[in-house]
Amino acid sequence: MQLFDVYSVSPVEIVKALGSKLWDKNGKEYLDLYGGHAVICIGHTHPHYVEALTNQLQKIGFYSNSIIIAQQKELAQKLGALSGYTNYQLFLCNSGAEANENAFKLASFYNGRKKIIAFEKAFHGRTSLAVTSTDNPAIIAPVNENNNTTFLPLNDINAFDAALNDEVSCVIIEGIQGVAGIQIPETEFLQHIAQKCKEHNVVLILDEVQSGYGRTGKFFAHQYAGIQPDIITVAKGMGNGFPIAGVLIAPHIQPKKEMLGTTFGGNYLACAAGIAVLDVIENENLIDNAQKLGTYLIEQLQSVPNIKEIRGKGLMIAIELHEPCAPVRKRLLEEFGIFTGTASNKNTLRILPSLAVTQEELDALLNALKTILK
Ligand code: PMP
Repeated sequence: MQLFDVYSVSPVEIVKALGSKLWDKNGKEYLDLYGGHAVICIGHTHPHYVEALTNQLQKIGFYSNSIIIAQQKELAQKLGALSGYTNYQLFLCNSGAEANENAFKLASFYNGRKKIIAFEKAFHGRTSLAVTSTDNPAIIAPVNENNNTTFLPLNDINAFDAALNDEVSCVIIEGIQGVAGIQIPETEFLQHIAQKCKEHNVVLILDEVQSGYGRTGKFFAHQYAGIQPDIITVAKGMGNGFPIAGVLIAPHIQPKKEMLGTTFGGNYLACAAGIAVLDVIENENLIDNAQKLGTYLIEQLQSVPNIKEIRGKGLMIAIELHEPCAPVRKRLLEEFGIFTGTASNKNTLRILPSLAVTQEELDALLNALKTILK
């Protein structure tokens, strides 16, 4: 059988990693400033993370969710403490799409409604409801089509007010839009939709799959606006590469047990990874590091020529050029050994390094960009 190669765009074969460094099979060193699409949160092969997973695997890797798994409770408790959502409940699953899928179900069970409001250019995943709330017709198969989702322009209060009514079950919005190329919801807009959702008994779902876990300099990007969503979804950085995701559920939603479930959700290894990630974020002050170094990078980028726009918070940064960024990305990788990302907006470079990235590593990007873009 041959692999159906959906993804690879580069011939590089990485075989080893540490922190923000990667090595290919020939021993060539690279710098990872894409973090595997915002997944690498505490850095690659962090010793505490490796030890936690190794120890757990030597004891027990899997049984089933029909018995008590103490690590699930520990993870929920730690995530509550670090995020500030101490009174929410955590449902554990395996991917961002699955977390969002369950969020839609919980919202609909809660208020008995069907309509979804999402935003233009949003990305919420590739499963049935997640994909129809993702603004990319190319990935919606006929079987996925529904007439329940409306896409609204981001930050347009009038359009939002015109679309909101008592048939709407939920509003889903990314803390900061990632795939779209780092589009930031305005504070006033988030506060407005939070207030309107409350008035209409509409469930507000914050998709923090990419923008959460400290990346923006706060645990969740929406915390800059001081709002409290009814449901928050997390994945990516949560396991630093081990598949794990979560749905954070406000107390008033009160799901029934039979509404949710998944075989692998919250297994021992996933929890060991999830707990180790939170320990490292806390012990190494990684949220502060994301805040500090993100601010540094955004400031320093001002002196790089030929950039159209710089957007971002913390270590979730877009560098928008005047033309498609593919040749620049290619030169960054081939000449300077630096991995970066792009976005659905092809002119945009996306920078999503580990939260433990150093100033020296960001300087390498700045110097490379100054050479390429001069
Ligand atoms: N939500 C957001 C904001 C994302 O960026 C992604 C992945 N790019 C997803 C959901 C889907 O996550 P997964 O690929 O783990 O299903």
